[in-house]
Amino acid sequence: MSVNEQAPGMPSSPAAPAKRAGLPDWAPRTAGPRVVVVGAGIAGLTAAFRLHEAGCQVTVLERDTVAGGRMRTTIIDGYRIDTAASILSTCYTDLRRLIKDAGLTSLVSPACDLFAFTRGDQVHRVRTSKITDFARTRLLSPRAKLRLAGVALDMLRHRGKLDWTDPSQAADLDTQNMRAYLNRRRIPPEVLDLLVEPLSAGFCLASPDELSVVNLFFFLYMLGGNGLINTTTGIQTLCDKLTARLDIRLSADVTRVATSGQGATITWNGPDGREQAEQADAAVIATPAPVTLKLHTALPPYQRHYLRSLVYRRGISVFLGLNKVPAEPAMFLSTASRHPGLVGVVLEHNKAPGRAPAGHALLAPYWRHRWHDEHHGADDTTIAAHAVEALAPLFPEVTDHLDLTHIQRWDPHSIVWTPGSLKAHRGFRASLDPASPIQLAGDYFSFECTNSSAASGARAAQNILHCR
Ligand SMILES: Cc1cc2nc3c(=O)[nH]c(=O)nc-3n(C[C@H](O)[C@H](O)[C@H](O)COP(=O)(O)OP(=O)(O)OC[C@H]3O[C@@H](n4cnc5c(N)ncnc54)[C@H](O)[C@@H]3O)c2cc1C
Repeated sequence: MSVNEQAPGMPSSPAAPAKRAGLPDWAPRTAGPRVVVVGAGIAGLTAAFRLHEAGCQVTVLERDTVAGGRMRTTIIDGYRIDTAASILSTCYTDLRRLIKDAGLTSLVSPACDLFAFTRGDQVHRVRTSKITDFARTRLLSPRAKLRLAGVALDMLRHRGKLDWTDPSQAADLDTQNMRAYLNRRRIPPEVLDLLVEPLSAGFCLASPDELSVVNLFFFLYMLGGNGLINTTTGIQTLCDKLTARLDIRLSADVTRVATSGQGATITWNGPDGREQAEQADAAVIATPAPVTLKLHTALPPYQRHYLRSLVYRRGISVFLGLNKVPAEPAMFLSTASRHPGLVGVVLEHNKAPGRAPAGHALLAPYWRHRWHDEHHGADDTTIAAHAVEALAPLFPEVTDHLDLTHIQRWDPHSIVWTPGSLKAHRGFRASLDPASPIQLAGDYFSFECTNSSAASGARAAQNILHCR
């Protein structure tokens, strides 16, 4: 049975909360199956929340000193910096379901969805939620728009196969890269240069020659007609609220997860460096593939081979705080045509309220992946100086009004989904045992975003609940 098939009698969504008289529903459980979740990114937190909600005794072990993984916010001098995940789409159905079920809806509100694109000296602005903006914009020639409509039709035709929770359903479409597909469809080069290339580089740290056409369909689906949502207190708030309800151990470096009897043994080093072993009825490993490979040494060869084959990119997030607010009203300015390394800038202060103190602005430049590699070993001062130089022609304020620089390195940053990888992904999924006491979740279950990680965590929890 593939993991996505629904077994007879299996609930379509995770079980309803088990209410206990006199206890708040987030109090630690003292009965029910014992489950250990490794990793407190959004994948692990979703799995933990769903398991806890269904009555399991859950402990989350997190290596870092804070929870959230790549969904983190750092507060410095009044700036609220979302250091990795930053933009949430209204089409993130799994993440939104989690937010709703966890009672966190009041924390989330519609966010600015205005994207600006430079072409020559002109700036063209479109709202992602308004398809009519794309129809009206002068960013693209009428011929390019007409041709692009054909691409949108292709995407709509394949809509049934574009599933966040299981991209392998689109494996038969995954036969070429984005550039080859656009060329075959005779899409004018301006579409590639102005839209596809900056978005691929900015969001996936990869070029249209490397990425599967299925990625392009997901981009179109996400940005064409969907709005954005966010929190006012930083993106990590969502993780913090989930963490507050769970038994979570920070600075807990898990070194091994192995099956034992009907359950799993989890070995970890605590903050004092002492090794500890926990016996549980089940475990969820919710870490990126390289870590999962190290922890789960008994993974079947096919799964091991698949996880090893994934190409992860590393990246650098750069943030520049200004004590003067630039005039640009958009939340993202694409600059691809203006700079060889820079593809765009997220104007964090426009993205959502609360990201910069009043009268201040926060800019986050997005780079081509070669830039990330070239600068990975550079010190923070050099990186910041480079960012100032790159941004100065677009935002002169960065030279005289800079009052904060913050650099964050991510390794891993994201996976490059090359053409053909979805077939291998389909094989990987089919090889997973939904009845295993060790379930997997994380970024490698779908195109990388908070929604797919949340979906993978919910699926891992559901497998455990179904089998125990
Ligand atoms: C710079 C950047 C920008 C992004 N922007 C967006 C965006 O705008 N929108 C969006 O939706 N997505 C975005 N993403 C993607 C998104 O952040 C990730 O796909 C998602 O957060 C991954 O969640 P996860 O739980 O699978 O992994 P992670 O968040 O990486 O969580 C894994 C956790 O496991 C822990 N861990 C690792 N090893 C061990 C161990 N041995 N023992 C215990 N714990 C361990 C880690 O410390 C970590 O907390 C971005 C990513 C990056 C890097």
